[in-house]
Amino acid sequence: MKNKILVTGGAGFIGSHLCARLLQEDNEVICLDNYFTGSKRNIIELSDNPYFESIRHDVTEPFNVEVNEIYNLACPASPVNYQFDPVQTIKTSVHGTINVLDLAIRLKVKVLQASTSEVYGDPEIHPQTEEYWGKVNPIGIRSCYDEGKRCAETLFFDYHRQHELRIKVARIFNTYGPNMQTNDGRVVSNFIVQALQGKDITIYGNGNQTRSFCYVEDMVDGLIKLMSSSDEIIGPINLGNEEETTIKDLALKIIKLINSNSKIINKPLPQDDPKNRCPNTDKAKTILKWRAKTPLDIGLKKTIEYFDNLLRKSYK
Ligand code: NAD
Ligand code: UDP
Repeated sequence: MKNKILVTGGAGFIGSHLCARLLQEDNEVICLDNYFTGSKRNIIELSDNPYFESIRHDVTEPFNVEVNEIYNLACPASPVNYQFDPVQTIKTSVHGTINVLDLAIRLKVKVLQASTSEVYGDPEIHPQTEEYWGKVNPIGIRSCYDEGKRCAETLFFDYHRQHELRIKVARIFNTYGPNMQTNDGRVVSNFIVQALQGKDITIYGNGNQTRSFCYVEDMVDGLIKLMSSSDEIIGPINLGNEEETTIKDLALKIIKLINSNSKIINKPLPQDDPKNRCPNTDKAKTILKWRAKTPLDIGLKKTIEYFDNLLRKSYK
């Protein structure tokens, strides 16, 4: 019998890669998504597979399916998208997570939460370890996402302590790759689309802020390894690439890889934009035997190829 797995947010960027990989690994997959930031295009190639099923549903409303494992990825991840309807964003992380956890209790199955480096906020320690509790503004424009995700972690741990639910919490750092939307608003997709179209590259602030970018295939490996680990490994566990880069250097790298004529312009830095972010992934390395392997240049080339094809198709 195949393992039957639910992926909430399965039509999104990371979720669609996860669904594809789980199918390749001979599982049956149910993707549940309300298509707020996801797209049918991301899962269209999976739809012919008899072991794949997609359901349009909002996780903030209760739902019922019969599965053996759950990955909870439903939640907009780009600041532009999660700030579009902040109340819905926090509902997704709180009400949605409660619905997912109640389902896991009923089914007595393992459940993995896609948490985020945003739980560390604008961090005072660098690189960030899992023991650090974070520096998060509770009332700012990023709070609907940061505090929602922090509350989701609390819910996971309370369900674990109170109901002995088998949980896994992954703290995902900036991830990029094919299947991001062209208008997603995050930095890698923005810069690539701008450079391919010869438009100005928009650096927010002076570009000295740093991020560490993990290629999506590496991230999917990490999520599956965490889910497959023994029950006492519950996390939270950082998953990300330790290769740190400034946003200015990222822009220059993308311009060079595309050989673009685009010029760099500076725009105001959004409120509460973290200055530095880089994971300490010692736990993932020792416990899961996982590390992000794809160098930034290689991952960027694959992502550029994806957006180049997508933009050419849309011109036609
Ligand atoms: P994404 O926006 O591409 O995907 C999120 C998916 O969730 C979309 O398909 C969207 O339609 C769906 N969704 C949103 N609200 C929903 C709701 N109420 N009900 C049902 N579906 C809903 O984002 P992503 O980059 O693929 O991120 C996936 C998960 O990983 C998110 O939970 C995000 O917080 C987390 N994460 C991502 C990153 C990253 O860099 N990509 C970093 C940290 C954490
Ligand atoms: N950023 C930028 N230009 C853009 C989009 C983002 O300079 O067009 C910056 C943003 O201010 C942040 C970093 O790039 O400092 C990463 O932003 P993103 O939205 O990808 O993710 P975050 O890590 O902030 O959630």
